[in-house]
Amino acid sequence: MMNAENPINLLDFDRVKMAELMSQLGEKPFRATQVLQWVHQYGASIDEMSNLSKAFRQKLSEIAVIRPPEIIHEQISSDGTCKWLMRIGEHDNVETVFIPEDDRGTLCVSSQVGCALNCSFCSTATQGFSRNLSTAEIIGQVYQAVRRLSQDNKKHDRQVTNVVMMGMGEPLLNLDNVVPALSLMMDDFAYGLSKRRVTLSTSGVVPNMYQLKELSDVALAVSLHAPNDELRNELVPVNKKYPLKELMDICRNYFDPNSRRRITFEYVMLDGVNDQTKHAKELIRLLEGVPAKVNLIPFNTFPGTKYQCTPRPLIEKFQKQLLAAGLNTTIRKTRGDDIDGACGQLVGRFADRTKRRERMLKKIVVVSG
Ligand code: SAH
Repeated sequence: MMNAENPINLLDFDRVKMAELMSQLGEKPFRATQVLQWVHQYGASIDEMSNLSKAFRQKLSEIAVIRPPEIIHEQISSDGTCKWLMRIGEHDNVETVFIPEDDRGTLCVSSQVGCALNCSFCSTATQGFSRNLSTAEIIGQVYQAVRRLSQDNKKHDRQVTNVVMMGMGEPLLNLDNVVPALSLMMDDFAYGLSKRRVTLSTSGVVPNMYQLKELSDVALAVSLHAPNDELRNELVPVNKKYPLKELMDICRNYFDPNSRRRITFEYVMLDGVNDQTKHAKELIRLLEGVPAKVNLIPFNTFPGTKYQCTPRPLIEKFQKQLLAAGLNTTIRKTRGDDIDGACGQLVGRFADRTKRRERMLKKIVVVSG
């Protein structure tokens, strides 16, 4: 219902939905792209949308708001990585991380509060699942990050050029809200990122991968982490439901073979667990005929975990084995771990924080709220 007490949030609308909204309001479809630009590119309020008539702006402000999640805390790592805690609704928070590099700036975006998948090496799993984020809460993380970064003077090297759906949550279990957010990331009237620079990462919810293939053209990453079902059942329990055979079937056919696009397989390096020569051999066999690249992720520890990271020389040895078999294999640089902003370290509730987290939090700059 559109009314003043229960306003709609313009951040929930991708181009298609915005055009529908405009037609409901008796406006021409092209108004949709104007509104999107005002909202996402200029960060304008409804009142500031100066190429819309005053009467229309009035009408729009009676029924709509522009309400991103609020940044409640900001931490900046010694390597320039920024982590924001964003307030979601009354009780929840999620984290959004910005990783600046020489040639790009990657924003790591959350899709759910918590996660239901219970991967044994991930800190988000320890907090359980709370709820799905709305489209506004997902794209709102991009909206906020872009705004916050442009407040800095060194604007030129602090831009969001890439988005990875690798924050908290399993994006494929929130497809209805994630897909419109992805379209806004790629829409020329919003963030205009190319489909190669927007990546969705999944732990392998196979039926929803088939859906995503139909709905969106983003780059795909799969959290593989183990080369056989027995080990993967333990590390990524959703594997019991969708075992490797089914996962590899969709991966083999996910991208059009003429497109030369590849799936990134993420493989977290766990000391003595999945990092032996026999695992490398199994992995090579598993990925045969799959358009793949492999990203080895040094495991980031967190309080209470039973795992340790594979020593660097052994990660490099593992990489060499894959490279020798012709697999394009990289080792992920660990960034922002002094602020717990690295993969698998995102836990979004203050209540869950350990003493170490409390000490870190003293360093944070309160932006608002
Ligand atoms: N649920 C999705 C999106 C989260 S992505 C998925 O599983 O792909 C987060 C990435 O970080 C995944 O590849 C995940 O497996 C990895 N990760 C999780 N915990 C980690 C840890 N402690 N150290 C390093 N990487 C981790």
